[in-house]
Amino acid sequence: MTRDITTRILHADRLAGAEHGATHKPLHIATGYGYATAEDLTAVFQGERSGYVYGRQGNPTTGALETKISQMEEAVGTVAFASGMAAIAAVFTALLRAGDHLVTSRFLFGNTASLMDTLQRLGCEVTLVDATDAGQVAAALRPETRMVFVETIANPRTQIADLQGIGKLCAERGLVYVVDSTLTTPYLFLPKNTGASLVIHSLSKSICGHGNALGGSVTDTGLFDWSGYANLLPSYRKGNPQAWGLLQVRKKGLRDFGGTLSAEHGHRIAIGAETLALRMERACANALALAQWLQQQPSVARVDYPGLAEHPQHQRAASLFRGFGALLSFETVAGIDPFDVLNGLELAVKSTHLGDNRTLALPVARTIYWEMGEQMRQSMHIADSLIRVSVGIEAIDDLLADFGKAFARLQAK
Ligand SMILES: *Cc1c(COP(=O)(O)O)cnc(C)c1O
Repeated sequence: MTRDITTRILHADRLAGAEHGATHKPLHIATGYGYATAEDLTAVFQGERSGYVYGRQGNPTTGALETKISQMEEAVGTVAFASGMAAIAAVFTALLRAGDHLVTSRFLFGNTASLMDTLQRLGCEVTLVDATDAGQVAAALRPETRMVFVETIANPRTQIADLQGIGKLCAERGLVYVVDSTLTTPYLFLPKNTGASLVIHSLSKSICGHGNALGGSVTDTGLFDWSGYANLLPSYRKGNPQAWGLLQVRKKGLRDFGGTLSAEHGHRIAIGAETLALRMERACANALALAQWLQQQPSVARVDYPGLAEHPQHQRAASLFRGFGALLSFETVAGIDPFDVLNGLELAVKSTHLGDNRTLALPVARTIYWEMGEQMRQSMHIADSLIRVSVGIEAIDDLLADFGKAFARLQAK
């Protein structure tokens, strides 16, 4: 029987043999690692023996976190990074080359969208489609297509990709299927179950949860056959082909670009992960209650949350995910300034970031989606009055009272 996710996380370090029977993997702060003989050192360098040579490629503390994430995803291996963006950039730069074609969603996390622009400057072709429909992904495929990249729940409008349909398509066409599961976390959803090749997490969000560390990860589910992938270099085609893709991500993506997760931050993320399931249960329940409450407010024009029956992909979310996530967004009606709503909130922090224990809210059009310009915002259906809320784990009565006070203040105005 597979043990429950929380049980696995709690006991991972000890069962992997942490030093002195410690229940936490200690902080390994060394940059370099010495070996008894030159033969031992070269064996590690040449990948014939596992071990550490230089901290930029990882250390035992972040290695323990990588093991934990692999266990959470029921996958074969993970590489940790200094941030989610470092992880995503590493996948593209390590596994694609000029002339390759990538299909991705039109509704992407803003910085990932910006990175797509960089990829195009470097000679890759990128096609943006509405990934809630696998048919649009299929229609965009070309002979040079190597990879499809999607997010599980898009931010801020919470569109849900056709994860199953795209997975089937990628399996048929032999494409690397990369799923950014940051908003679902391994507690709500395992991308492996819909055929994902690689799973991305921004560990800075719900997996850490406490808003006190940045991190990212790339996990190989073991489903993709790397032996036929033309972009892998001969030096990484050694041993079990299942490990080839991730080895190239570690060498070309992590080692050469240097977006390395520090031991301290890896440790904080690992502590956060211990309560992921408890926090997600509470945050998802809070988000559903707040979404339902917002729907009834006369000053609110629309609410996007996958847990609402009206959400276009509600059925998909219900069948694929254990819960509907902690992110929602809403638009105010004409004549109500979203800044007035935000300025009336006392508990909800006016801040970007998401997946924090604290509830965070921000006006997306004038902050995180400002740089891309109005045309792009319109194509992503981001209205000027749209407020994104990352719902935390406060008591729901306190949250509803906070929003209630902010809306009451509008009426009084
Ligand atoms: C935050 C986020 C990222 C980037 O992660 P960082 O750790 O902030 O670099 C990528 N994808 C999604 C879906 C995110 O929410």
